[in-house]
Amino acid sequence: MRTKRILLVEDEQSIREMVAFALGQDGYVMDEAEDGQSAESKIADHLPDLILLDWMLPDTSGLELVRRWKRKESMQDVPVIMLTARVEERDKIDGLDSGADDYITKPFSVKELSARIRAVLRRGTVDNQLSIGPIKLDLNAHRALVGNHSIDMGPTEFRLLEFFMTHPDRVYTRTQLLDYAWGRNIYVEERTVDVHIVRLRKLLKPLECDHMIQTVRGYGYRFSAKK
Ligand code: CA
Repeated sequence: MRTKRILLVEDEQSIREMVAFALGQDGYVMDEAEDGQSAESKIADHLPDLILLDWMLPDTSGLELVRRWKRKESMQDVPVIMLTARVEERDKIDGLDSGADDYITKPFSVKELSARIRAVLRRGTVDNQLSIGPIKLDLNAHRALVGNHSIDMGPTEFRLLEFFMTHPDRVYTRTQLLDYAWGRNIYVEERTVDVHIVRLRKLLKPLECDHMIQTVRGYGYRFSAKK
């Protein structure tokens, strides 16, 4: 497979160096930019396969850039992951509405970032719609649908649902689910999984899909359209 090129737009030098080094080790070709203007000139030199974009830049905002890029035909299909210190739900929604494909909140681990990058790059190569039972997942739009009803969910619930829908009818332990939805080497307690499972079921309940997330006593969880 061709080596993927990633453009990292980040004005904080220490973060930029750390991320560029780690992703370079992962085998990506890294381009670096410290502001919007240098990002534009890097893009003019080489169209990247993916952009990591800081929210707050000295000359513009990441939000402005992603809006501008998603309007350009040549850039439309280039996935963008926002790096953000903001944790407000409203900001996250703004980020995704503007066309960003995913976002990661600082401080993040490189392992987690690396997992997100792989997931986003994978989306571009496969069918972007998943559908099991009445639930449809649009991975590009980051949207879950039952019929015409859109389910508004947080990023962790979305990743969990994405995992379940790509791995149906099999039982997974909490540890396996943690590895996927939170990334390895992230210290999260196993019962955090239960908390997010409860939230996901609550979102699916009004649509009568909560039974699809099944507890397998003494082991973990299974996602299935079969009762
Ligand atoms: Ca910044």
